[in-house]
Amino acid sequence: MPELINKRYIYYAQTFFKKCIIFFGFSCLGFIAIHYSFAQNATKNIYLPVRVHILSSTKIANLDSNLTDIQISQLFQAVNKIWKRAHIVWEIESIMRRAATNERKYLNAVRIKSNKSSKKRSVLPSVCATDQWLDHGWNVCIIKRFSKNAGGIYINRRGFPPLVIFAERSPRGELRPEVLAHELGHSLGLPHASKYPDNLMTGKGNNMRPRTKNKIKKLTFSEINRARKQADFGRPYRKIAN
Ligand SMILES: [Zn+2]
Repeated sequence: MPELINKRYIYYAQTFFKKCIIFFGFSCLGFIAIHYSFAQNATKNIYLPVRVHILSSTKIANLDSNLTDIQISQLFQAVNKIWKRAHIVWEIESIMRRAATNERKYLNAVRIKSNKSSKKRSVLPSVCATDQWLDHGWNVCIIKRFSKNAGGIYINRRGFPPLVIFAERSPRGELRPEVLAHELGHSLGLPHASKYPDNLMTGKGNNMRPRTKNKIKKLTFSEINRARKQADFGRPYRKIAN
C-alpha cells in the first residue's frame, strides 16, 4: 500500500515538474519575443527633414549669419551625434539663404527696455520669412547672435508655424551644436526636466556653459520615448492649436 502511495506521489511530482518546465519554456519564449520586437523597434532610425534658412542683413549685424554649407553640415553632424542614442537623424533637406525681414520691427523691439523679453520673443520669428517654408518637416532659422543671453529658441506660438531659431554665436562667441540639439528636443515635445548638467534638456543656458571634455549630452529613456513618439508623427510638437 505505501508503495502505491509513493508511486502516486512520484507521478504527481513528475507531472508537476513537466508543467513547470512547459510554463517556464513558454514564458521564456514570450519574453524573448517581446524583447526582440522592442529592440527592433528601438533601433529603427527615424529620419527628420530640416530646411535651414540662413539669414543675412546689411542693417543689423546680429541677424547676419555667415555660416557656410560645410559648417552647416558639420553642425548637424554634431547634433546627430547627440541624437544618435534616440535613433533620430536630422537630415538637411535644403539650405536657403534669405534676407532678414521686419528688421525695423526687430530693431525697435530690441531697443525697448521695459517688458523686453516677451516683446522681443514675439517679434523674433518675424525676421524669418515663411514663404519658402518646409511644410512637412522642420525649419531652422540661423542668425548671428541674440541680443540677450541666449543661444537658441523654439518658437511654438499661435499665429506662427513652429520654428527653431539658432544663433551661430553663443554669448561667449562660440558655435554650440548642443544648443541646437536642445532646441530640436523642444520641437519634439521635451520640456526642461532634468537638473543634471550632462542632460541635453537641462534648462537655463546649460548647453552654453563650457563643455565638459568630449562628453556627449545625454537623454533619459523617457525623453527618448517621448521624442520618438513625436518624431513618428513627422512634424514638430505644438502645444497650442494654430
Ligand atoms: Zn530650453
